[in-house]
Amino acid sequence: MNASSSMDGRPSTLQAARCGHCHGYSYPANVPGCRHCGAPAEALDAVDCMGPVPLRNVITVHAPLAPGLAVPAIIGEVELCPGLVEEVRIDAENESAVPPGTPVRPVWVDDEDGGGWIFRAASAEAVPLQENV
Ligand SMILES: [Zn+2]
Repeated sequence: MNASSSMDGRPSTLQAARCGHCHGYSYPANVPGCRHCGAPAEALDAVDCMGPVPLRNVITVHAPLAPGLAVPAIIGEVELCPGLVEEVRIDAENESAVPPGTPVRPVWVDDEDGGGWIFRAASAEAVPLQENV
C-alpha cells in the first residue's frame, strides 16, 4: 500500500505523481499508473504541488455535480504541475474575485466527507516575493 496515506486522513501537502519513464505528471499521487505512458505505480514518484499556480479558467457551478459539493461552487482550472491540468474547488466570494491569472494555492479543508483540497487566492496571504531585480 502507499506509505504516504496517513491514518488521520489529513494530508499536509498536495502531491502528484511524477513518472520516472516519461517525466509526465499524474494526479492524484496514488494513481495506479502513469496517465501518459502507462508506466506502473512503481515508476512514479510523489512530488509536492503546493503552488501558487495561476488560475487558467474559472466557472461558477449551480448544480451539485458531485456528492458534498455545496452550490453555487466556484470551480477553477489550474496547472498543478507542468502539463497537469486539474479542475479544483476555489474558495472565493464569487467568480469575479478570482479572475483567470489569479495565483492560487491549495489548502486542506476538513468536512463531513473527510475533507479535501480547495484553492485560495495566494494574494490573500503573505507570499514571499522573488527577488529578481
Ligand atoms: Zn509516464
